[in-house]
Amino acid sequence: MMVANWKMNKNIEETELFARQLLPLLEGVSGVEVVICPPFVNLPALHNILAGSQVKIGGQNLFWEVKGAYTGEISPLMLRDVGCNYVILGHSERRQIIGENDTIINRKVKAALNAGIIPILCVGETLQERENQKAREVVKEQLTQGLKDIVFAPGDLVIAYEPVWAIGTGVNASSDDAQDMISFIRIYLARLYQPELAESVRILYGGSVKPENIAEFMAEKDIDGALVGGASLQADSFARIVRYKQNGN
Ligand code: PEP
Repeated sequence: MMVANWKMNKNIEETELFARQLLPLLEGVSGVEVVICPPFVNLPALHNILAGSQVKIGGQNLFWEVKGAYTGEISPLMLRDVGCNYVILGHSERRQIIGENDTIINRKVKAALNAGIIPILCVGETLQERENQKAREVVKEQLTQGLKDIVFAPGDLVIAYEPVWAIGTGVNASSDDAQDMISFIRIYLARLYQPELAESVRILYGGSVKPENIAEFMAEKDIDGALVGGASLQADSFARIVRYKQNGN
């Protein structure tokens, strides 16, 4: 599974151009779920061009209520209405810049699942937490709180391990370190739920993924795909990530 997180980038014209460039580049690709998460206002334009293709779309956030007096917020039902199958939740930029905590993220995960949207729950430690040997503890807490009172089927939730220090920095985690944490996440999910569910839930790595390093991550046993920021903004580079096997990267 390869997910593009565009963050606050691209206007409608640039979105349409990207989609038109991407589709031919992905022709013949099978066995990879491809998801693009643009800013909210670009979702309808993206949906119009990608409808009928294998490429799915997702939001970068949602609000936990379905409607009402919540100025500036976007409901899970609205996301579904514009064709979203996925939503990114708990991204470190929302945790750190907007101040979202695990309680808020937990409400959002529940709201997404209730609306039939697959949450991509992001977890990951800061550099200081890693240096203080606290990385596992932090990720475990984010999972415990983020998934509190939540029951889900294997295909209905995706986890993304994104070490904060690797996001947008050009400094990716080593594939060994990513595998180590993702295997830890799987083992912890087996404790929270059942081993079968933990085995089949998709867990992605995110943090400075590029066409040049994607193959290393995908060669790891527990890594099922990537959440890609910067390198997903150009159709050619994102397509090379999706097609990493064929490209021989
Ligand atoms: C992200 O935004 O989730 C991300 C991983 O960004 P980048 O690929 O640019 O590090």
